[in-house]
Amino acid sequence: RRIQGRLRPHDTVARLGGDEFAILADRIEHEPAAVALAERVMDALRQPLRLAGTEVVVGASIGITFSAFGYTDADAMLRDADTAMYKAKGDGRARCALFDSGLHAAVSDRLRLEGELRRAIDDGALGVQYQPLFELDQGRLAGFEALVRWPHPRDGLLAPDRFLPMAEESQQMERLTDFVLHCACRQLRQWQVSNPALAGLGISVNVSGADLASPAFVARVSRALVESGLPAQQLTLELTENILMARYDEASRTLAALRQLGVHIALDDFGTGYSSLSHLAQLPIDSLKIDRSFVSQLAPGADQAAVVAAIIQLGQTLRKGVVAEGIESADQAQQLRALGCHFGQGYHLGTPLTAEAAGAWLQTRGATLH
Ligand code: C2E
Ligand code: MG
Ligand code: MG
Repeated sequence: RRIQGRLRPHDTVARLGGDEFAILADRIEHEPAAVALAERVMDALRQPLRLAGTEVVVGASIGITFSAFGYTDADAMLRDADTAMYKAKGDGRARCALFDSGLHAAVSDRLRLEGELRRAIDDGALGVQYQPLFELDQGRLAGFEALVRWPHPRDGLLAPDRFLPMAEESQQMERLTDFVLHCACRQLRQWQVSNPALAGLGISVNVSGADLASPAFVARVSRALVESGLPAQQLTLELTENILMARYDEASRTLAALRQLGVHIALDDFGTGYSSLSHLAQLPIDSLKIDRSFVSQLAPGADQAAVVAAIIQLGQTLRKGVVAEGIESADQAQQLRALGCHFGQGYHLGTPLTAEAAGAWLQTRGATLH
């Protein structure tokens, strides 16, 4: 009734189901008129209503499309209005958005990519690259970080930022993590078996918020360890501060259980998120990875150098390991060493390598940087 009250007599409103309504507005002259109509409707819906003695406020997101696109059936028109509505939702609550054909292309592109990712995970077609991690003072190899890649048949090798957000939204993150986890544990174990000098190396795997929220996560990690034969102490799970803080209670329980298994935990991209320092002392975290945005600006006397020094101090005081990420020059490595940073990773020391390349590199260079 509220919606109807804001429409013109010849407009039609219908409830499609659930909380979805459609308005067929006849004789709209131009886009601004459609937007003005949508705003009138949103305004009507914004007014609070009383429900069982409580004031409740609802909002609406509105998607708009136009018959001028030449629709021949109602379904196609509703689909496009729906697509625009999801865009409105994505832009923030209580907004309206107009459909255009670019939107349609973007949506079908995305759906296609989602399906392709699902199949790639099913088929074990994702790849893992290994970036070495070093002890900075001795230059000794400490282990590798496993980084997922998607060799896409048409678009080439895709980096995680191209598909991780989509994996997250389409609930594929846990399967992705399992794939990387198993691959990485098996790979390290294989290197160790073929060369006993590598027995002390560790492997780091990045995990997502979905993993931390999954009740089966500890069992999943344990299975990867059992199946690969890798000792738990040689596996480090990396998570960002924001993942941790978003689900603090759940996360601290899960981390405690992982610790019980013997797995190490690292806080990734440290310094860029929202972790509270009081939590940091209590959480079962073994190391902090200083985000590369700090490392890249290291210069003697620079403010960033003071921040890095403070993080290293903090890590030492809390008896946590400190790893510097994104070291791109000898100068940065030298400064970090001087500041007492234990571990380092970055293009200057070693780029991410395919399993074959990393295996060959291990054979020729041994386990030292020099
Ligand atoms: P991260 O865990 O902080 O990984 C470090 C990223 O920095 C990697 O990018 C690495 O290739 C890049 N990097 C390393 N050294 C340097 C350097 O010297 N300079 C610069 N500019 N970059 C450097 P990548 O592989 O694109 O991964 C990006 C992010 O995606 C990762 O950040 C991690 O958060 C996420 N990610 C990667 N693999 C996985 C995975 O298997 N699972 C999950 N959940 N996340 C993953
Ligand atoms: Mg990481
Ligand atoms: Mg990082």
